[in-house]
Amino acid sequence: RAKTQGKNYWKIFSNQVDDGERSNLSLESAMYQGIENNEFMLHYQPIFCTQTGQLRGAEALMRWQIPNQGFIPPIKFIPLAENSGLIKTLGAWALRSACNQAKQWQEAGLKDFYISVNVSPRQFVQEDFLEMINIVLSESGLLPHNLMLEITEGVLMDNPQRSGEILTQLHTAGVKIAIDDFGTGYSSLAYLKKFPLSVLKIDKSFVDDVINSAEDMAIIGTILSLAEGLNLLVVAEGVENDAQLGFLKQEGCNLVQGYLTGKPVHSEDFKEKYLA
Ligand code: C2E
Ligand code: MG
Ligand code: MG
Ligand code: MG
Repeated sequence: RAKTQGKNYWKIFSNQVDDGERSNLSLESAMYQGIENNEFMLHYQPIFCTQTGQLRGAEALMRWQIPNQGFIPPIKFIPLAENSGLIKTLGAWALRSACNQAKQWQEAGLKDFYISVNVSPRQFVQEDFLEMINIVLSESGLLPHNLMLEITEGVLMDNPQRSGEILTQLHTAGVKIAIDDFGTGYSSLAYLKKFPLSVLKIDKSFVDDVINSAEDMAIIGTILSLAEGLNLLVVAEGVENDAQLGFLKQEGCNLVQGYLTGKPVHSEDFKEKYLA
């Protein structure tokens, strides 16, 4: 149809594409190029034990810098990568890089250090996901229990049956699972007892105002007692000040991650800061 109508067809078509959509299309093609040109990298944000202040792990966070254009934020390009299927390439690359990096830091002295990697919905259900995890682990030499995969509630609820199977296989392999942005998605609490999970990550939105908000205090308190009863660890994300940290420490939150204790940084900076 496009061929028979020639140029005009495309002209009409492109006039109907709104600006947002058009820039998404060009961003998507820029992403292919970006992969070719190694424009993607990982930053690492430290995760600390709340009680002792000891470094326990890091979350790998994807960064994309187009030359002369600055950083494109992940909330912009991750959804596009999801839709186009590019997330499989990017996600596999992130997992491999993060595991190699963690192993290297362990060898340089970080004992029992874990690496946490975000896994998107489409990536999680991809057929060869487990195979890819196994290859990455064996190639890097990282122990499975030092790898944490962060998934959101939505991933579990999309297809609970299939998700359960994948989680069970990951658990059998020794890999840990964290629920990211916990409390913000649509899901039932039943999955907390059904699936083999290790960590709940309290979403930043509950941490932000916790000092002034009785509601946020109640929500965080409830997440903490729920986690304790279910034998799960809790990471609080987005901790930005001492008051928040003090509250989380007092309430028994196991781990903290946020700008107060450390922003996401390039691997070189991470090494300099945290590997004495
Ligand atoms: P997330 O997994 O919930 O990651 C936490 C986000 O909060 C990160 O944003 C981090 O930089 C930010 N953050 C941490 N502490 C603070 C704080 O104290 N204050 C503030 N204002 N922000 C804080 P980032 O790096 O922009 O990533 C956004 C989201 O993009 C992530 O949210 C995750 O959902 C997604 N993402 C990032 N990297 C990857 C990846 O490799 N794969 C996938 N599938 N998704 C990723
Ligand atoms: Mg995360
Ligand atoms: Mg999160
Ligand atoms: Mg978040």
